[in-house]
Amino acid sequence: MLESLLDFVFPTSCAVCETPPSPLCAACTPSFGVALSWLEVTPVWYATEYSEPISRIMTAYKDQNRTALINYLAPGLKQAVAEAVQVLGECWICVPPRNRVNFKKRGFDPVARLITGCDKSVPRQLPGNTLRFHRQVRDQRRLNKPGRESNMSGSMKANPGSKRVLLVDDVMTTGSTLKECTRALSAAGYEVAGICVLAKRNL
Ligand SMILES: [Zn+2]
Repeated sequence: MLESLLDFVFPTSCAVCETPPSPLCAACTPSFGVALSWLEVTPVWYATEYSEPISRIMTAYKDQNRTALINYLAPGLKQAVAEAVQVLGECWICVPPRNRVNFKKRGFDPVARLITGCDKSVPRQLPGNTLRFHRQVRDQRRLNKPGRESNMSGSMKANPGSKRVLLVDDVMTTGSTLKECTRALSAAGYEVAGICVLAKRNL
């Protein structure tokens, strides 16, 4: 909290190349261009591939709590959501539940903050407790693809509902988290119409 406040009050340095004075210099500021991919039968809109410098920016934002970077990342997510809504029509945003360990360590939910950083043009969100874990999961980052699948499989539960849903997350790697979200929401009666992520990563 203090660090993020200091980021705003005092000149800082670029999260990628460390050149002062802004949180991201012009040369390291990513440009976004929305592209379409698929996760099984669900369309996925993403604003960029997960490569340098975006991985360093996201690490600085998520793990070093450099929240001033939201202003540089939110436009990408907003573009992806806008494209999705244009194709899908009316839908509700749902964010994957957070791993409790990460949430405790960070003290904030990076994806929820990113959505707050977009403007009112993004669709409304389902209530925060709609989709949740009903058993403990491990930190996905330490796991390979089969490990991620079995870590996530059957881990979530959703309150019953019938709305059309747009899943929104920051990074899609193997897609195991988003697949489990889709499974749990579909089982509870929702229609998962699409997925939006800021960055798509290839393992
Ligand atoms: Zn830079």
